[in-house]
Amino acid sequence: MRIVVRWSAHQGNYSSRDGPRFSVRCLANRYIDGMRTVEELKAVYDLPLPELIFRAAAVHRAHHDTSDIQRCALLSIKTGGCPEDCGYCAQSARYQTGVKSTPLMSVEEVREKAARARALGATRFCMGAAWRGPRDGPAFDQVLEMVRAVRGLGMEACVTLGMLTDEQARRLHDAGLTAYNHNLDTSRRHYANVITTRTYDDRLDTLRSVQRAGIAVCCGGILGMGETEEDRLALLAELSALEPPPESIPINCLVPIAGTPLADAPPVDSLQLVRLVATTRITFPRARVRLSAGRDRMSRELQVLCFLAGANSIFFGEKLLTAPNPGAGEDADLFRAMGLPVPTMSQP
Ligand code: SF4
Repeated sequence: MRIVVRWSAHQGNYSSRDGPRFSVRCLANRYIDGMRTVEELKAVYDLPLPELIFRAAAVHRAHHDTSDIQRCALLSIKTGGCPEDCGYCAQSARYQTGVKSTPLMSVEEVREKAARARALGATRFCMGAAWRGPRDGPAFDQVLEMVRAVRGLGMEACVTLGMLTDEQARRLHDAGLTAYNHNLDTSRRHYANVITTRTYDDRLDTLRSVQRAGIAVCCGGILGMGETEEDRLALLAELSALEPPPESIPINCLVPIAGTPLADAPPVDSLQLVRLVATTRITFPRARVRLSAGRDRMSRELQVLCFLAGANSIFFGEKLLTAPNPGAGEDADLFRAMGLPVPTMSQP
């Protein structure tokens, strides 16, 4: 049964038509209980935009400190030469993108970069390797050592290494990994138009291995790959079926890369992005909603609107794996302009 709710501006509570008042937190939980299907998500996504943003901001406020926008750093620890065919990716060996393949970084180099990111205010350090999945052996052992090094600096550690076995997930957990990033990217329907070398179910299998190992899941998608708005909601519906739901949800806007099949994709509509951020916030009240790739092409005003709609994390640093990103100075200026705490530079 759907409950009809009305917002009472005076008391800061919602009331049902017949029943007692309940708080914003309660409202968020009611949405979560009901929002599993694309139709249910669409009913929220299609609200008049001011109402949608208002509701998302209320849910955000009920579950988070709104001045807390987490800053994450993302480092490519092994770049290029990937055998997969993800149609958006500069690192696939199948496309002529000019990205050079590099070997796996040393643990010491990673430790230095993580310490530097921490000094710039990052609390999470994410590491990506352009693999179909890690092979057991020295390279995987080295990644485990990197995880230990980052955790040793007092930071959250996240890796994205492709498909995992249960045993690999268990070893990452034992090394202290905080979260594993593995994006579903888009809807099940649109997926095969973008990637053919691994299936949607392969991705879900890896997410289940990660969850069985007790590692938090970071999983989201990329907008602007030729999908419909409904595909984006279908992705949220897939995420809402994960048990537990993702701890963090990156929302990326495609950065078109010359040489890839999606090189000429048009930019994402700004207000569609805001709608999706708001719908994600309402659907996943406790998750970190990460405004990820594509931020370098967003105005400051659009980013502020996304924060108002519930985004509460960004990646900082001039590169996002191989894609451009606003510099730390630009982000510090943005935080200053928003009147939010700007992390002070400390010695690594
Ligand atoms: S997104 Fe990851 S798996 Fe896909 S081609 Fe790029 S590096 Fe490989």
